Amino acid sequence: MKKIILIVLSILTFTSYAQTASTQKRIIILATGGTIAGSGDSSTKAAYTAGKVPIDDLLNAVPQIHNYGKITGEQIASIGSQDMNIVTWLKLTKRINEIFKNNEADAVVVTHGTDTQEETAYFLDLTVQYDKPVVLVGAMRPSTAMSQDGNRNLLDAVVVAADESSKTRGVIVAMDEKIFDARDVTKTSTTNIETFQSRNYGPIGLIYDGKVKYYYQSLRNPAKKFDVTKLNSLPQVEIVYGYADANANSVYCITNSGPKGIVYAGMGNGNFGAPVGKALAEAAKKGIIVCRSARAGSGRVTLDNEVKDAELGFVVADDLNPQKARVLLMLSLTETNDRAKIQQNFFDY
Ligand code: ASP
Repeated sequence: MKKIILIVLSILTFTSYAQTASTQKRIIILATGGTIAGSGDSSTKAAYTAGKVPIDDLLNAVPQIHNYGKITGEQIASIGSQDMNIVTWLKLTKRINEIFKNNEADAVVVTHGTDTQEETAYFLDLTVQYDKPVVLVGAMRPSTAMSQDGNRNLLDAVVVAADESSKTRGVIVAMDEKIFDARDVTKTSTTNIETFQSRNYGPIGLIYDGKVKYYYQSLRNPAKKFDVTKLNSLPQVEIVYGYADANANSVYCITNSGPKGIVYAGMGNGNFGAPVGKALAEAAKKGIIVCRSARAGSGRVTLDNEVKDAELGFVVADDLNPQKARVLLMLSLTETNDRAKIQQNFFDY
């Protein structure tokens, strides 16, 4: 009798273990560098080098992540995100699409420097063709610092990636106990750990004590993504910054370098003074797509109000900040040169 009970118990234990193993989410962590992989000589001084710590060491530093899934890591790059570039963006999105196509994982976490994390997140949001969770994460303090934030952020990002409710939200950024939509999130502080904010709409969810709770969902997550499978580069798009009494030197300099698009980071509602306006209108006449955005940090740039966009041949960025408007303009230009279609993309994506 004792023997039978023991056999039944071991069958039950094995079945429940097998079930846990089969329901465990498979998560691949793609590392690109940044402060989360940064290393310094002192725990109290700010000096450090970004991107030095390899992915295996990052994962070993947070063994708790293995409670939330079957975790593996891959090194995509080892750079500070100030050196992030289009070649690495294409490599990253192609690898993520391949992972989901081959069913290699249920979710992907990307470790990334915070400087350009918002641009990478939006680029992936527009080019990853699958509804599975893709979560970007970083840190403001290097892994060697006192009160470093990277380990906690990495654990939280894995928690978010493993959560069933993270599907179909597009690419998200998880930092400092908050979850942000890739389209809206921006870096707002040079050094503070609470740097990421979505100034227009706020975080879409919160992470606490190993649990995720979503509160909002962006309506800007169109099913049609940009297909970059066959691309090795993107059309050249530059950003010009607006300020009081600006001359048009930088606009002419950029126009002469042969770009397909210019994003203007204008004052207020995307405004410019007369010399810059004239130079931008000349660029638009030459066929360069000129997109007005705003340096203000929140709000949207509205079409044909203070500026006669239709007459001058401009499009507006809606509520995208200049660096994200550049990402959408580069991708739009891979499909069309038509100003009306590109304007529509700024209202849809
Ligand atoms: N310069 C670093 C980077 O973006 C800053 C950081 O990760 O917080 O890679």
